[in-house]
Amino acid sequence: MMKHLCILIVLLAYFSTGKAQFEKYFFDKTLRFDYYHCGNSTEDHYYYDKMMEEPFWGGSKVSLIDNTGYGNYEFRLYDLENNELIYSRGFCTLFGEWQTIDEAKTIDKCFPESVVMPYPRNKTRIEFLSRNKKGIFEKKFEYIIDPESYFIKRDREKLPTFDLVYSGAPDKKVDIVLIPEGYTADQLELFKADCQTFTDAFFTYSPYKENKNKFNIRGVWAPSLEAGPDIPGEHIWNKTRLEASYYTFGSERYQMITDFQKVRDVAANAPYDYIYVLSNTAKYGGGAIYNFYGISAAHHESETGKIYIHEFGHLFLGLGDEYVGGSEYNDFYPVGVEPWEANLTTLVDFDKKWKNMLAPGTKIPTPVDKPNSEKLGVYEGGGYVDKGVYRPWVNCMMNNIHTIDIFCPVCQKAIQGMIDFQCK
Ligand SMILES: [Zn+2]
Repeated sequence: MMKHLCILIVLLAYFSTGKAQFEKYFFDKTLRFDYYHCGNSTEDHYYYDKMMEEPFWGGSKVSLIDNTGYGNYEFRLYDLENNELIYSRGFCTLFGEWQTIDEAKTIDKCFPESVVMPYPRNKTRIEFLSRNKKGIFEKKFEYIIDPESYFIKRDREKLPTFDLVYSGAPDKKVDIVLIPEGYTADQLELFKADCQTFTDAFFTYSPYKENKNKFNIRGVWAPSLEAGPDIPGEHIWNKTRLEASYYTFGSERYQMITDFQKVRDVAANAPYDYIYVLSNTAKYGGGAIYNFYGISAAHHESETGKIYIHEFGHLFLGLGDEYVGGSEYNDFYPVGVEPWEANLTTLVDFDKKWKNMLAPGTKIPTPVDKPNSEKLGVYEGGGYVDKGVYRPWVNCMMNNIHTIDIFCPVCQKAIQGMIDFQCK
């Protein structure tokens, strides 16, 4: 009897792990779901576009359900037959940022978007949720996925790849894919050298350097007809692969790509969790959005590496900007709502943030004692505004990279948490 009980316990342990769940519901490849995200400052709508099969699955086979709470949006997959939640991920988008600028009060706009998931074995329902103004997820769209449909595109452009760091199987590692923007056909060696610069810079910062064996970094080569991204403010328009552009939302240094689907087309040539675009320019600027993509100048004269690290913090776990000003956004962090970002608080629900890391007797708000003070506190100003949003350190890599080159303990702890989640 005892022996049978032991076998039962072992079997239960196996079937309760995500890996068995993965094998029950998914194939080891990717289903990509493309759609259009449209609306204005007060509403958003999802419109179906297409599905594609992609060859690699770079994500965890254990962390199937997203329990981080990060992101303004979330998609959830349910097995159609038994209605079980089998996969979910939070994310943010460029459309979501656009909703907070003045233009969105006057017109409607559509942005191409895309999410990826392990390829389902059976019919599956996908649901998309957006946070409302109170920060609560509301279901906006659903679609029944038939994984055997002949409308799922299985053909794609094949592009060459190369490894920069290989630490092990993609499901157990954080996989970063580096893709080029505005490099011409004769600039492959330049792109490879820039990928190496990214890699070298990445592992000089904590906590990435202590976790080097938990990352894979790969490059995909996809040349452009002309060199460098668009600079509308200088009337520069180049024929490039991803059509990256400065002056996004009218902000000179905000270099972004509007068509995320084009970015996925290139990235699909390698297993990946996160896409970072190296832009062939020396002009300061870039941007990154949680679980979407990151991009920045590959040849900034002095701060190329620091910009990569700051932007990757947005991409990897949605760390908020700890600085004041510098954006066109309205009510990016609404009063009365605790932001989901790990390193910002409105004090609405500070218990869920870094309260338990503070030294006893820390004043809230904490007065600034000196520049770059390493005293953990609750400093007013962050998330682009000087009142009502608070940050953990006077200065951190998510604040002013010009004067500091370390993350505050709150950001470091959150980064470690995401590394561990992705490597299960
Ligand atoms: Zn920080």
